[in-house]
Amino acid sequence: MSIIRQELVNRNSGWAAEMSGGQTLTLSARTIIDFVAFDAANPNLAFDQAITKENNLSIYLREADGLYSRSDQLLMTFIADGFRGLGTHDLQFGMCGRARHKRAAKEGRLNEYLHGHNMTLPDHGCAENLTWALEDWGIRYENIPSPINFFQNMEISQDDGGMKRTQVRPSAPVDIVLRAEKDLLVAFSACPDMASKTGGLGVGVLISD
Ligand SMILES: [Zn+2]
Repeated sequence: MSIIRQELVNRNSGWAAEMSGGQTLTLSARTIIDFVAFDAANPNLAFDQAITKENNLSIYLREADGLYSRSDQLLMTFIADGFRGLGTHDLQFGMCGRARHKRAAKEGRLNEYLHGHNMTLPDHGCAENLTWALEDWGIRYENIPSPINFFQNMEISQDDGGMKRTQVRPSAPVDIVLRAEKDLLVAFSACPDMASKTGGLGVGVLISD
């Protein structure tokens, strides 16, 4: 194994990079990560939540599951999940951001983030972080798909489909490892993670082959 790229991404900021097929991406964290992937040759072919859930027959992304594009291409495989047995990775939600925070405050729903109404709202979130990270590739917000929300553990009711955020996160950073199945552009936001006790943390990144 050789290291292609290694860095630390600060809390509430974004990151993007190209990867070659066969390389692996390791993210080390204990905070929510909003993650997306695109076919490097055609960024219109982006990760898609619905096809991914259908092909894996699961509403969560589990170890050995694939990440698929809307056109049913296998983009990545989730080869190691350090959160397994501790919590689950969300495939329902979109991205937090200015618009979502504003709406939650206006509708009096900030308590859904589990810290009550007296919380400081960040001036940006994952929507802005991913938009800024993908600017250099000419990808606009409208073309960024709803992400995989790694470490976003949710309670989902079988009876009525109700969804609740939880504060379940790894107590110390754990690794999640994804293998690129073709040449890709990948990007993520280290979420401000307003539901967590820490309010979002940095993420370690390693690309290797
Ligand atoms: Zn977020």
